[in-house]
Amino acid sequence: MAFTVVAFLCLVGARNLVDGPATPLAYRLACALVLALLVLVIPSTRSTLIFGAIGVVYMQVLVAGMALNTAGVAQPLLWLLPAMVVIPVCAAPLWLTPAHFFTGTALFYASALALLFGAPLTHDIETVVWAWIAAIGIPTSVVFHFGFYRFRRNHFLLESQLAQLAATDPLTGLQNRRAFVKQAEQHLDALTDEMQVSAIFLDIDNFKSLNDRFGHAVGDHALYQVAQVLMEQTPADASVSRIGGEEFAVLLRDGLSGALALAEQLRGAIAAIERPDGNLTASFGVAQHRRGESIMVLLDRADEALLRAKYSGRNRVCAERRMLPDVQRSAGSERRVEGGSLSQRYQWEDYYLTSHFQPLYSLSHQKQVGFEALLRGEHDDGMLVPPVVMFAPKPSSDEGALDRASHVVHLSNASRLLPNDAWLFLNILPATFIAAGYADQLSVLVRAAGLEPERVILEILESHGGSVDDMSRAAALYREHGFLIAVDDFGAGQSNLDRLLRIRPDLVKLDGELIRATSHGTGHPILPKLVSLLHQAGMLVVVEGVETTEELILAVESNVDFAQGYLLGRPAAQIAPPESVHRQIDDAFDVIAQGRAHQYALFESEVEPYRIALRAAADALLTGVVMDDAFAPLARFDRCISCFILDATGRQVGHELPGPAWSKEGASLQPVANPRDARWDHRPYFRNAVLLPGVAVTSNPYLSLASGRPCIAVTLAVPFANGRSVIGVELDWSAKGLPWPAAE
Ligand code: GH3
Ligand code: MG
Ligand code: MG
Repeated sequence: MAFTVVAFLCLVGARNLVDGPATPLAYRLACALVLALLVLVIPSTRSTLIFGAIGVVYMQVLVAGMALNTAGVAQPLLWLLPAMVVIPVCAAPLWLTPAHFFTGTALFYASALALLFGAPLTHDIETVVWAWIAAIGIPTSVVFHFGFYRFRRNHFLLESQLAQLAATDPLTGLQNRRAFVKQAEQHLDALTDEMQVSAIFLDIDNFKSLNDRFGHAVGDHALYQVAQVLMEQTPADASVSRIGGEEFAVLLRDGLSGALALAEQLRGAIAAIERPDGNLTASFGVAQHRRGESIMVLLDRADEALLRAKYSGRNRVCAERRMLPDVQRSAGSERRVEGGSLSQRYQWEDYYLTSHFQPLYSLSHQKQVGFEALLRGEHDDGMLVPPVVMFAPKPSSDEGALDRASHVVHLSNASRLLPNDAWLFLNILPATFIAAGYADQLSVLVRAAGLEPERVILEILESHGGSVDDMSRAAALYREHGFLIAVDDFGAGQSNLDRLLRIRPDLVKLDGELIRATSHGTGHPILPKLVSLLHQAGMLVVVEGVETTEELILAVESNVDFAQGYLLGRPAAQIAPPESVHRQIDDAFDVIAQGRAHQYALFESEVEPYRIALRAAADALLTGVVMDDAFAPLARFDRCISCFILDATGRQVGHELPGPAWSKEGASLQPVANPRDARWDHRPYFRNAVLLPGVAVTSNPYLSLASGRPCIAVTLAVPFANGRSVIGVELDWSAKGLPWPAAE
């Protein structure tokens, strides 16, 4: 187009060389100026509409300029002819949309034809030129004009489709990360001092479980629904993007408080979207742009806030961390009272430390017996410091510093809040526990807080640091001061039985996972056996992480002494009254009592046929039937592993009679599978039978050496002429769903 301006200026110059009355030069130069301005405006036009409109106007100004230039010349057609052919051909690419094309074309031909018809035909040559224009010029220009238009338009559409594709996330139709970052960079570059911009970063909660449980199509649909919410509820001038996976970002022209309000609104709208197992939720981080900051730094800060939102329970909005001036570390100083019954906060690095207390219940007494103090970090505005951040190793302080500071904070809070008859459970790192002189220091601290060491239970955390020897020596030292010792998280990581037996703690806290652990094969919980083992070793047992009624029932049933978990009480900055927890524990006891009776009845009816068959075998043996025949009916039961006779010393008499369940997969136990020569009088099934002669007794499940699977024995003491013997049958009890006798 710039060439047209130059060509027009040449025409203006040429016209000045020709005699005759001409339109004033200023008017014609004004036309050139307008054309030049239109050319300059084109690169900054963003919309196709304006671009096409400029093309239309440009053409009209050009035709008008031509008319002004040729006014007064002797043979205007000769001046106009080349331009009238070339102009429409060159103009075509400017008119991008059909609307522009048709308006532009109509206006051009109307004005051009008016010009051509308006020129008087005074010479023959002009008539000829007219004829040429009509016959060749107009059709040629129309064909080229239309052809160029089509070509340019297709090219343009393709180009814009490609650009659109490259910038869009196909699933949600939102901007993708690349386009978002590019647009945000342009936006931040053009920012003036008084304009505020904030970023909202959000991540759908537990999205993986949605995919895993209901399939990717359901996940995709959820992403689409979240995108719809974002598009509908954010202001028109905000940019919304799917940054990746199930993460979205919004950049909006507003300050932090406006962005927080919008994030809260979006959070509510997303929480109203249903998923097959409840509702969708998302966590949000919000940060306001600081001068000179790049979009990536802004997003990083919003992401950090998002991480805190995740750690503090999800489905919430967290704001960026405020910039705090560097403060001197000073545990214990700068106390800030927050209210009489709440934990106090103590400044630590650039945040505050405070205590939360979680209750522990004695299951038999159905009452609170103590509180575990848990460390929380908070910012000035109450925002939580994520534990990963708080406990992350820092080069500036030694590992135990935070541990020791936590004891100061907890003891001072406990001195005001702990009920008189309750224990305080304090966590301690192995390295702190064995540190020289710490037992003395801690006991001074405890007494200074108005407590007795007897009321403090030190929970040795499950972590590296300190040999078992050091730990057991240190434990003796703390005991001398009166402290009680607990080992935390038994069943996870570093814990093993040797460590436990050497430290000899008063209490063992079982890792929450152990509540749910089951023996493979039968699926029966292993907790009851474990608790019984620890009781025998003289340790009280605490289970942590009790979250459901089923877990509480299992804890009660397993004879656990103390329990702790969300079901019984969450950690809180104050010590709340016990509410209805004792009722829950009472209910658990009722459920177990009923369950035991039911289980007993089921088990009895299941073993009754074997008892009858065993008594029949005894009768047959007593009347002189040989062993194989006497046991034959019993040995035909599917669950029968073997039938046997033991003498008064528990040794096998004759051979055992294998049944259908004999040693099918028990090859690994082969060396001990042969019961001959072995003595079985130590087994409960032998002793119980002897204690109750004439009664067919059943044993608790045990591992069968013949089959390698859980089994039970039904035994009966029979008075034979040559002395008392115990006859019995071992029954495979490994099938799922079989009733087990209630735990002893
Ligand atoms: P959190 O609450 O901690 O954010 O947990 P989460 O499960 O949401 O987070 P995580 O990062 O573990 O899982 C994100 C999942 O998103 C993993 C990935 O399979 C899924 N995902 C990523 N992109 C898509 C997608 O386009 N479609 C679907 N259906 N799933 C996607
Ligand atoms: Mg997620
Ligand atoms: Mg994620």
